[in-house]
Amino acid sequence: MTDLDAFARAASGGALTRLAAGPDALAELPALVRRLAGPGERVLLSDDVEKSAAGRNLLGWVAGLVGETRRVAVRASHAQVALDEVTVETTVAEVGTPGLLVSVGSGTITDLGKVVAARSGAPLLAVQTAASVNGYADPLSVLVIGGAKRTRPSAWPSALVIDDWVIDAAPARLNRSGVGDAIAIWSAPADWYLACRLGLDGPFDDAVVRPVLDAVEHLTDPDHDTARRALVDSLTVGGLVIGVADSTAPLSGSEHLISHVLDMTAMARGAEHDLHGAQVGAATVVCTALWQEVQESCRVLDLPWSRLSYPDDLADRVLSTWAALDPSGRLGRECLTAVERKVAAWDAADKSDCDADREALLETLFGYVGDPGRSATTLRHWGAAARFSELTPAVDRDQLAWTLSALPYMRDRLTLPDLLVMSGEWTPALIDRVLERAASAGGG
Ligand SMILES: [Zn+2]
Repeated sequence: MTDLDAFARAASGGALTRLAAGPDALAELPALVRRLAGPGERVLLSDDVEKSAAGRNLLGWVAGLVGETRRVAVRASHAQVALDEVTVETTVAEVGTPGLLVSVGSGTITDLGKVVAARSGAPLLAVQTAASVNGYADPLSVLVIGGAKRTRPSAWPSALVIDDWVIDAAPARLNRSGVGDAIAIWSAPADWYLACRLGLDGPFDDAVVRPVLDAVEHLTDPDHDTARRALVDSLTVGGLVIGVADSTAPLSGSEHLISHVLDMTAMARGAEHDLHGAQVGAATVVCTALWQEVQESCRVLDLPWSRLSYPDDLADRVLSTWAALDPSGRLGRECLTAVERKVAAWDAADKSDCDADREALLETLFGYVGDPGRSATTLRHWGAAARFSELTPAVDRDQLAWTLSALPYMRDRLTLPDLLVMSGEWTPALIDRVLERAASAGGG
């Protein structure tokens, strides 16, 4: 079992001064407030959804432990709170410059708390209400900028409180979603390793992803306490290593791109989408199937990568892909700017090492690729969706195939589909084969 508190202080360079996790972690709140609060009022930031834990109203419980506070409740403009420009600016203005900001919520509210803390300079005491994503213990926030999901630097929480009672009282779908985000560790490091070896990111460091790989081992433990601890550990350690690497890349590859594109599609249509981790979990089954399928039936892993380049019509592809969601072209231009950074990095990179050392490179890389069947089984153990048709709302096969086709055209991070675009193999036929393979593993 990881000593989360010590790991948190080391990973954050002392910025995250206390990570209290376990039974009764909430009892530390009064001491944390005394230590962290500066002069001025205490602001309690949450959404407007009632929460309870151990039979008590959670916000009232926290407020009682924190002392006199002013409440700021963020209202959802769609089905759930989205951190678009308006929501962020409104909340920054409403919070002002308190002596202490206390956030009570899951991933989105904590991400908002980190942004507001960075802008106001107030210390953030974050009370985590679900094990739903890995983004609590890191200094980054996922925002919606120009309609596109973007990860931006914000601030470390000064303290993070993860109480077993509170986590167990979270809606089951939130913790199930956390399982999905946790198992991205079976997909993302392969993409990160690829990008690092190609000189587009890095350096790669096994020590960054290993603690998460170890933690997820116990996710299917029949003992609930052990399995819950594995879930909290894998997500918390995951957040911390993202902080250490100063990038989400070690834990965010193609499977996260799928989730981001589903979010963007839903937002563009004014429709709902499922939780981040729920989408990431189902996407992990697909992306592990993608690696297997490419290894078995594609040429790209054998081709000399130093001779590959993005196609000449790339800009047209990017713009026409996103025009389907935003005919105004704003989203397309936002994505093209990001994709152009990736193309410039690719053109500037020296790939000769990768070509000379291909066999060893692929052996290491496939050591990070998990099994689609195990991914699906782990999700099912927690009652989480392994198939996109089981998400809420369901994502049908056509939308999933379109989502996959769009992956290389969204942002500046290189993942396996980029290489397949360059080799001319990112085709509907390949996507069909990947979805069939995922389906026979219990996902897709
Ligand atoms: Zn995630």
